Amino acid sequence: MNIEKNQEEKYESISFVEEAVKKDLEDGKNGGRLQTRFPPEPNGYLHIGHAKAICMDFGVAEKYGGVCNLRFDDTNPSKEDTEYVDAIKEDIEWLGFKWGNIYYASDYFQKLWDFAVRLIKEGKAYVDEQSKETINEQKGTPQTPGIESPYRNRPWEESLDLFERMNKGEFEEGSMVLRAKIDMANPNMHFRDPIIYRIIKIKHHKTGYKWNAYPMYDFAHGQSDFFEGVTHSICTLEFEVHRPLYDYFINELKEGKDLNDNRPRQIEFNRLNLTYTVMSKRKLLALVQEKLVDGWDDPRMPTICGFRRRGFSPESIRRFIDMIGYTKYEALNDYAMLEAAAREDLNKRSTRVSAVINPVKLVITNYPDGKVESMEAIDNPEDPESKTHTIEFSKNLWIEKDDFMEDAPKKFYRLSVGREVRLKNAYIIKCTGFKKDENGEVEEIYCEYDPMTKSGMPDSNRKVKATLHWLSCDHCLPAEVRLYDRLFSVENPSADERDFRELINPNSKEVRTNCYVEKYLSQFKPLDYLQFQRLGYFTLDYDSTPDHLVFNKTVGLRDNWVKQSK
Ligand code: ATP
Ligand code: MG
Repeated sequence: MNIEKNQEEKYESISFVEEAVKKDLEDGKNGGRLQTRFPPEPNGYLHIGHAKAICMDFGVAEKYGGVCNLRFDDTNPSKEDTEYVDAIKEDIEWLGFKWGNIYYASDYFQKLWDFAVRLIKEGKAYVDEQSKETINEQKGTPQTPGIESPYRNRPWEESLDLFERMNKGEFEEGSMVLRAKIDMANPNMHFRDPIIYRIIKIKHHKTGYKWNAYPMYDFAHGQSDFFEGVTHSICTLEFEVHRPLYDYFINELKEGKDLNDNRPRQIEFNRLNLTYTVMSKRKLLALVQEKLVDGWDDPRMPTICGFRRRGFSPESIRRFIDMIGYTKYEALNDYAMLEAAAREDLNKRSTRVSAVINPVKLVITNYPDGKVESMEAIDNPEDPESKTHTIEFSKNLWIEKDDFMEDAPKKFYRLSVGREVRLKNAYIIKCTGFKKDENGEVEEIYCEYDPMTKSGMPDSNRKVKATLHWLSCDHCLPAEVRLYDRLFSVENPSADERDFRELINPNSKEVRTNCYVEKYLSQFKPLDYLQFQRLGYFTLDYDSTPDHLVFNKTVGLRDNWVKQSK
C-alpha cells in the first residue's frame, strides 16, 4: 500500500524546473508571461533524449498557459539540412505537442551581425588571426590565467574591416575568427575571450550563400531567446557553465535600458542517457552513414522515428519520461524501465492476435477432415467495449516448436505425449504421439481433441495448466517477423574505451521468414499496435505489403533480458 502511494506521489510531484516557472509566474516576472522554446540543431534526427527536453519545454508551457515555439538553431551550415528540419517537426507532432511559431536562428543573422559590429566599435570584440589550436592553447586552465592574443588590442577599425571581409568571403575557413574581449583570467573559461564568429563557406539551407561569417552557439542562442521574448530557456546541465556568458551577452544587448520584463532565464536539468545505446548525434549519424543500422528509423535506434517504427506509442515514451523525472544529477536510465512503460501502455491499446513464429505442425487426428469452425476471439480484453473477430479452426494447425517437448520434465505443462493443454479460444487436446524427420527434428505432433471442451460446452471449464496459441494451416497468412535486441552489448557504450562500433550487439536483429499470422492481420497497417499472444507486442513495418506481411517486435510481454544476459 505504502509503496504504491509513494509512487503516485512521485509521479504527481512537480519538478524543480516547474517549481521555478510557477514561482516566476506568481511573482509576476516577465509581466506574467510564459514562453519557452525547443531549440534543436537540424543536424540529425531527434532521439529519446530530445523527447525529454520536448516534454519539458512544451509540457510546462501547456500546463501553465504559456507558449512553446520551435526554433531551429541553424548556425552551422556544414552539418545542417532541411531533411532534418522536416523530420524534427514530424517527431514533435507525433509525440503529441504543438508549437506556437517556428523560428530559425538564421532569421536573426542580420541582428546578430549588427550586435557584433556594435561590440567591435565599443572595443568589446576583435578579429583574431591565430588558428583555433593556438587560441585553445592560450586559454590556460581554471587555475592559471590565459595568454592574451597579440591581436587583442588592435584598433577597432581594423577589426571591423577584417570582420566585413570575413563575411564577403575574402578569407579561408579557419584563417581568423571574431572574439569577444572579456577577461583572459576569468575562472569561468567561457569568459576567456570566447570565439563568437567563424568563417564557413558552405551553402546554408535557408540563407544560401549570403553569409560567410556565422555566429557560434554562445553568441546566437541567448540572443535568439531574447529577440523572441523567451521567458524560460530550459536546457540540459552541460549549459550550466555557459549561463554567465548567456547573461553577459543579454546584458550587453540591453544596453542599460530597463528590459526587465523581457529577460529570459536559463534553467538546466539532467540529460536522459539510456543503457545499451548511444545518444550522441555524431555517433548516430556514423551508424547510419556507415550502414551499421538500416537508417535513422531502424527499430533498434534510440531515435524517435526508430521507436515509432518499432511500435512504441508516444504515450509510452511520455510515460517513461515522467517516470525518470528531471533533476540536477546526471544518471544512466535503465532501458528496461522504458520497456516497462511501453508494456504498461501497449497492454491497454493493442489488438490481441495469434502468430506462430517458430512453427511446427500439429494434427488433431480425431477432428473431421475438411471441417472448419470459426472461433470467436476478443480483440482486447482490457477494453470493456472491445470488438471480437473470428479465427478458423481445422484439423491441421501450426503451433510453436517450443510448446512441445519429447522428454518433458515434470514441470513442463505444455505438450508432451500423454499431456493435455487448451488451445486458446478452442478445445482441450491431448498429445498422442509425434513424428521426426530424417534429421531427428520433430516434424509433426499428433493430438486428440475433446469436443465437449469448447467454450459453452459442458466441460469447457475443465482446468488444464497451459493454454497454447495456434493457427489453422489452411487459414493463415505467411509473414516475416523481425526480432530485435539491444543495439549494443555493453550497458554504457559511451563510457567504454573501445570504439562504439566494436560494441554493437551482433545479434541485435533476427529476421524470421517462415512465420504465420491470422488472416485478420491483412486489415492492419504499419504502426498499428498488436499483441501476438504469448509472444509480445508487435507492429507492422513500413516494408509490409499485402503479399508480404512484415512485423517488428516492439517488446516482450515481460522482462527476460536479465535472465538472458546471465
Ligand atoms: P549535438 O550532439 O549536435 O550537440 P544535441 O543532442 O545537443 O546535439 P540539440 O539539437 O542541440 O542536440 O538539442 C536540442 C535540445 O535538446 C537542447 O536543448 C538539448 O539540451 C536537448 N537535449 C539534447 N540531448 C538531450 C538528452 N540526452 N536529454 C535531454 N535533453 C537533451
Ligand atoms: Mg547541442
